[in-house]
Order: sequence, then C-alpha cells, then structure tokens
Amino acid sequence: MSHCANFIDGQWIDSREIIDNINPADTDDVIGQYAQASVADVEQALAAASASFADWSCGSIQQRFDALDAIGTEILDRREELGRLLAREEGKSLGESIGEVIRAGQIFKFFAGETVRLQGEILDSVRPGVQVEITREPVGPVAIITPWNFPIAIPAWKIAPALAYGNSVVFKPSNLVPASAWALTDIISRSGIPKGVFNLVMGSGNSVGGHLLNDRRIKAVSFTGSLHTGAVVAEACSKHGTKYQLEMGGKNPLIILDDADLDVAVNCAVNGAFFATGQRCTASSRLIVEAGIHDDFVAAINVAVKDLRVGDPLKEGTQIGPVVDESQLNQNLKYIEIGKDEGATLLVGGGRVERDTPGFYQEPALFIDTNNNMRINREEIFGPVATVIKVADFEEAIAVANDTIFGLSAGICTRSLEFATRFKRECKAGMVMVNLPTAGVDYHVPFGGTKDSSFGAREQGSYAREFFTVVKTAYVGR
Ligand code: NAD
Repeated sequence: MSHCANFIDGQWIDSREIIDNINPADTDDVIGQYAQASVADVEQALAAASASFADWSCGSIQQRFDALDAIGTEILDRREELGRLLAREEGKSLGESIGEVIRAGQIFKFFAGETVRLQGEILDSVRPGVQVEITREPVGPVAIITPWNFPIAIPAWKIAPALAYGNSVVFKPSNLVPASAWALTDIISRSGIPKGVFNLVMGSGNSVGGHLLNDRRIKAVSFTGSLHTGAVVAEACSKHGTKYQLEMGGKNPLIILDDADLDVAVNCAVNGAFFATGQRCTASSRLIVEAGIHDDFVAAINVAVKDLRVGDPLKEGTQIGPVVDESQLNQNLKYIEIGKDEGATLLVGGGRVERDTPGFYQEPALFIDTNNNMRINREEIFGPVATVIKVADFEEAIAVANDTIFGLSAGICTRSLEFATRFKRECKAGMVMVNLPTAGVDYHVPFGGTKDSSFGAREQGSYAREFFTVVKTAYVGR
C-alpha cells in the first residue's frame, strides 16, 4: 500500500496524522495512506508560495510553457494507469475516468499555449503625447480548494491557469480523493517548476482549508464545492479582501418538447442524469417534459434506466459505478424517502444494491408525477436521482426551468429553431445546451453559472485569465 506525503517547498513532507483512502466499490481495498498537513506544514507551504512568487511571476514564459507542456504530456501518456487510480478512489466507470484524465492532460496543454498568448493593449491617451498601456499581472500566491467528484480535472483546470499566468499555488484537494491529487503533484514536482511555486497540503476542510482562507499571504482563492462551503469561503475572503471565485451546486433542468426526437431526448436524459453516478454539478436532475411526449418519454426512459449496469467501475461493461461514500449514499436514500413522502411516484430504481465486493452501490432512481415545489426538485441531491416534471407548453417549461436558486447548466431537446433560440436567450443558466446532455463541456471555452451556482470570474479557456491576473494601466509621457 502506498504512503503519500504532502509536497511543500519542493520537498515531500510526511506527517504523523494520516488517512486511509478507501475504494467505494470495495471497502476492503485501501488505495493508500495520505498525510494530513499540520498547522506548521500549512504555514511552511504559505511561506514557500510567498517567497517563490516574485521570481516565478517575473520569470521566463518559455519555462512556464515547457513545464505545463511536460505535465500535460505525462498525464496523457499515463492515462490508463491514472484512470484506473481515479476509478478506484472516486467510483466513476473506467471509461469516464480515463476520459477525465485525458481532459486534465488537454487542459495543461491548452494553458501551456496560454503562457505565450497573454496580450496587453496600447491606446493613445486623451492627453496629447501620452500613451496608455494595459497589461495583466499575476495575482499572487493563490489557494486552490477542490471537491471530490472530478479528482483530476477540476484541480487541473485551476492549477494550470494559475501557474500559466505566473501565480504560485497552495493546493488543498478533497480528503475523499487524495490519490489523484497526489499523482498530479508528483508529475508537477518533476516538471521543472521551481521549488515553492507549487505546494500540496492534504487535510480536512476546516483545518487546512480554513487556515488557507484566513491567511493574508493568499491573494486569491479558487473554490469548487458545495453551496454551504462556498458561503464560508465568501465570508472569509470578503473579510480579508481576498479575490475569490466559487463554483457550486446545480439543479439543472433538461426540457423535452413535444417535437423532440425521442431517442435523442432519452439519451440526453440518461447520460445527463445518471452517468458519473449523477455526481456532476451539471447533472440533469430535473427532466421537464411537455405533455404531448410525456407518456412516450416516460415509457422509453423507464426501459433505458432499467438497462443501466451498476457495478465495479473497473469491470468491463459497468456503466454506473458506486456512490462515493456511505454518507452520500445515505443522503441519496434519504431523498428517495422524501420524494415518496411528498407524493412523487418512484418509477424505477432507488434502492441500495449488493455486488461481489462491499461497496456503496445504488440503482439509478427516477421519480415521475413531481412538481417543482417538492424538495426533490429544489435541493441538490448529488447522486443518481432524477425527476420528471410534466408541463403544458414551452412557456411553462422555461418558467419551471428558471424557478430555482441555481443556474449552472440547462438543456433543451427540440427540433424547433424558434424554441431552441428562445431557450438560449431566456434560460437563466451559465451554460445552455441544445439536443445535448446538460453535462459535458469543452476545455477551451468558459465554464460557470449564474445565481447561487457560481460567483466571480468564469473558469477555463482564455477566460480563466480574468481570475488569475490583475489588470494594470500604465500612463507613459514623453
Ligand atoms: P464540499 O464543499 O464539501 O468540499 C469542497 C472542498 O472544500 C473540499 O476540499 C473540502 O475539504 C473543502 N472545505 C470544506 N469545508 C471547508 C472550510 N470550512 N474551509 C475551507 N475549505 C473547506 O464539496 P464536495 O462534497 O467535495 O463536492 C460536492 C459539491 O461540489 C456539490 O455541491 C457539487 O455541485 C459541487 N461541484 C460544483 C462544480 C462546479 O463547477 N459548479 C463542480 C464540481 C462539484
């Protein structure tokens, strides 16, 4: 079994406190033991990130390019091995896990290119003989705090732009998935990035995360996680004047209109609601279905959901892996009971199931006869649980879709150009999809939501520079 230390100021630093990383598909399988950073460790990481910032932020962009490119290359070369590790610790199917690793590699390659593409502007001043230059500078040491559901892609889409634009980093991953974070750190440690520029501190949210939020050497915090923790991050950062960006939950609607292609609609719904075990912030948890297609859609999706193969992610043919841990499984099962108590009909699934190994397996669940006031339609469940809401027409569909505190992703299945166009304009979400699942995004374009789903600058693509740089305006006289 591997024993993995934190990475601080270019050194692997062990700790007396460790945690076991448990495979959710087989709780007898301990993937490894991971050091928990002490207060002194976090202090050392903060000092290292501060001390290394000046040289790194003014250093060679070719050096940054080469390092990020090398990281991307190694990730892509090791996609199978890293994908298996990710599947073992998080539980998504092997195919999805390898896909996530590939995405992480592509992100590092993209941001390698961004290091040499950062542009400024030169304008004439309104005062004769004066020129104005607008440039972007790194923000400073940044803290990166990530959730468990994309153990390598989310760290990658924060760490790569942070480093590309010249920031130093203290990275705190979720304690549920330290193996992918550690493997990524190991790759970064061999990439030629100077010591102190990148630091890994594993540990709990309250202790390690809380320490980072409340240290003034940190100039920006990039956070992805729950609404609840996002509020903690916002409060601490506001207090200290720290720049922050938050990516949080969703209750993403997929509208299915009468004129939709039924196969496309069912595929979008099943993929969006249940793939990755429904543990995606962009999952389609509310299926809003127009009355004329409702019964055909329900009959077809019932068959499709029953056919989904739940099992060990490493086994051939598995489509839906286990839920990430016992507490998330209990939360899903609690919402199944809440839905029934609220008067919804459980059409299919919803129970805990046994497999050859002890794990947190759950049948994907679909409720029908629901309305948008029910808790199962208002609160993020974050598991393989979706609902059908029947509506009379497009107007009602868009009203229901927008009647939520969240606004991350939304989709529509229709063959009507008019309704697709109106949906793109009228839907209050950061990302809108036409005849595609609500989950599944590209790495070279902006990612993020509206309302309570997100706060601050968008992530990914060249839009990431908004968060990881600050703008400077220089006036130059004769
Ligand atoms: P979480 O909020 O419990 O934890 C996220 C991270 O914050 C972890 O690293 C955790 O240790 C840390 N943390 C917890 N308490 C903290 C504190 N007091 N101070 C500082 N850090 C603290 O979220 P989770 O359960 O890991 O992830 C699931 C959530 O993430 C869901 O709500 C999901 O929708 C959301 N998510 C959003 C996106 C997006 O891009 N919008 C993407 C993936 C996941």
